[in-house]
Amino acid sequence: MKGGVIAIDGPSASGKSTTARAVAEALGFAHLDSGSLYRGVTLVGMREAARRERGRKDPLAVVGAEAILRAAEDRGLMLQPDGAGFAAYLEGAPVDAEIRGADVTARVSAVSAVPVVREWINSRLRAMVRAGRDVVVDGRDIGTVVFPDAELKIFLTATPEARAGRRINQRGAPVDAGRLEAETAALAARDQADSSRAVAPLLAAADAIPLDTTAIAFPDQVRFIVELARPIFGQR
Ligand code: C5P
Repeated sequence: MKGGVIAIDGPSASGKSTTARAVAEALGFAHLDSGSLYRGVTLVGMREAARRERGRKDPLAVVGAEAILRAAEDRGLMLQPDGAGFAAYLEGAPVDAEIRGADVTARVSAVSAVPVVREWINSRLRAMVRAGRDVVVDGRDIGTVVFPDAELKIFLTATPEARAGRRINQRGAPVDAGRLEAETAALAARDQADSSRAVAPLLAAADAIPLDTTAIAFPDQVRFIVELARPIFGQR
C-alpha cells in the first residue's frame, strides 16, 4: 500500500521544515525532511575527505560522488523515526546538530547538484512512501520530481529579508543590520545555486498552491495547509 503525500517545496529558510512537521503532527502523518538527507550525504563526504586528506577539503574533489554514496551506505546514513518524523543518523548516532552547521551548509548545494546523489536520495524517499506511511515531505523538488503525483503540493515563499531574519532568530542571535545583510546574501547565493542547477532545480510545480508566509503567523500557515489536506485525505 502506498502512503499519501503532501509535498512542501520552497527556497532556503522559507519555513518548510517547521511547517511540514507541524502539519504532520496535526494530521498524524510522518514528516520527511529531504534536506536532512542531502545534508547527511554532505557530512559523510566531509568526514571521508578528512579521513583521506587531513584538513577540510571539498568532498566532491577529494572523494567523489560515487564513493561518498558507498560510504553513506557503509556508515549507515539513515532517517530513523523520531517524534512526528525522522531524524538523520550516521554511524549509529544522531547528527542533526552537525548537519545544520555552517560547514555542511556551505557545501550542501554543490553535493546536491550531482545527479547520482539525487537518485540515491530519491529512491530512499520513495521507498519510505511505498512502505505505506502517510507523509509530509519538504524539499526543493518534491512536487516536481520526487512525488509528481502527490495529492497536495504547497510552494512556500517569503521575502529574502524575512527568511534571513528567521534564520538569525533560530540561532538565537540579535537581528541587526550587519547580520541581516550577511544572511540575506548567503541565502541568495544558495537560492541561486539551487534554482540554476541543471538537474531538479528549485521550481514550483504547475499544480502547487503558492503560500507567501512573509506576513502571516506560523499557526495560520499551518492551519491553511491542514484545512486543504483534510478533505483530500479524509480520516486516515
Ligand atoms: O532544506 P535545507 O536547507 O536543509 O536543504 C539543504 C540543501 O539541500 C539545499 O540548499 C539544497 O541544495 C539541497 N536540497 C535539494 N533538494 C531537496 C532538498 C534539499 O537539492 N529536495
